[in-house]
Amino acid sequence: MPTVWVLGAGQLGAMLKQAAYPLAINVEPVEPESEQLPNIIDGDTVTVEREQWPDTPVTRHMSQQRGFMNADIFGKIADRFHQKTMLDTLGINTAPWRSVEVNTKAESLHAELGPDVLLKRREGGYDGKGQYWLYEDQGDEVPTDWLGTGIAEKKIPFNEELSLVGARDKDGNKVFYPLTLNLHSNGILMASISPLSRVAHLQPMAESMLGKIMDSANYIGVMAMECFRVGEQLIVNELAPRVHNSGHWTQAGACVSQFEMHLRAVCDLPIKAPEVRGQSVMINIIGVEREIAWLKIPSTQCYWYGKDVRPGRKLGHININHPQKSAVQTALNELRKLLPENYQDVFNWVEKELKRI
Ligand code: AMP
Repeated sequence: MPTVWVLGAGQLGAMLKQAAYPLAINVEPVEPESEQLPNIIDGDTVTVEREQWPDTPVTRHMSQQRGFMNADIFGKIADRFHQKTMLDTLGINTAPWRSVEVNTKAESLHAELGPDVLLKRREGGYDGKGQYWLYEDQGDEVPTDWLGTGIAEKKIPFNEELSLVGARDKDGNKVFYPLTLNLHSNGILMASISPLSRVAHLQPMAESMLGKIMDSANYIGVMAMECFRVGEQLIVNELAPRVHNSGHWTQAGACVSQFEMHLRAVCDLPIKAPEVRGQSVMINIIGVEREIAWLKIPSTQCYWYGKDVRPGRKLGHININHPQKSAVQTALNELRKLLPENYQDVFNWVEKELKRI
């Protein structure tokens, strides 16, 4: 088996490493700022856990390797201007948008996109960072530091946020997990639920959208597509050419997790439609100290990323999975008691959504 080098050494790289163990694949996450260049040899594969990276000797070295997968795609997806252009070219629904040029006026953005306009940095924004709302009724001007660095999007009055995680192999075969319902707070993913029978009729549409995107880029590996549902329409919010937080539930709820699926695809091993088992819920642990009592809750898997605790930082996640929804709810009730007050809304949302599935 070749070694798979991962550009980036955060939790996604660590979970790829964990998933690689049963396949005897050697996964080596690499810190972009590391002083030592990874010893990549012919036949090794290079993949990423992030779509953007600083220009360092390590990232230059890794991205120039022959085994660097999907080399062309990152420029197209990491910059929102290129990502939105690609979606428009493919005829895939996405929030109407305009480029914010050095001389763009708020007035013209409102004329084209409506009274509430969301500015997003072309590069570098994630977890709701790099966003700025421009409200016509407050007479906001485009802040000078946004001129020439962003795009502007129309506000989408969405019903809910759904994501699709899929994988494609080098022969163009594709597999998909069921649509996942996501709750964000201040742009940060708080909880995911999958599967949901009430959105199953949207699955073919979502698969055809993501399938088209992956085919057009000749993409190999796992890709995630975050969408807004507006009535019976799906509108793409953003794409991630990598394993994704909204697919973490697959560790507990599918016979092949998104992490293993990505490795299978990039190592040219068979990918297969993942059989999904039971009901899954994922709760992100954001800015909260680790609590040993979480480990006692039945039907859960606990992932702790070993990072320093800081407000708003993703520090771990808990997957809850059981064939019966009632058992999932019982576990959630236990967990609710062990997380801080600001999680009450998250648990209320999950409880409500579990009843509607
Ligand atoms: P993003 O950083 O693009 O993933 O956006 C973070 C969150 O901001 C999303 O999950 C939505 O909740 C919200 N958001 C992003 N774009 C829009 C939009 N065009 N209209 C309304 N809400 C949005």
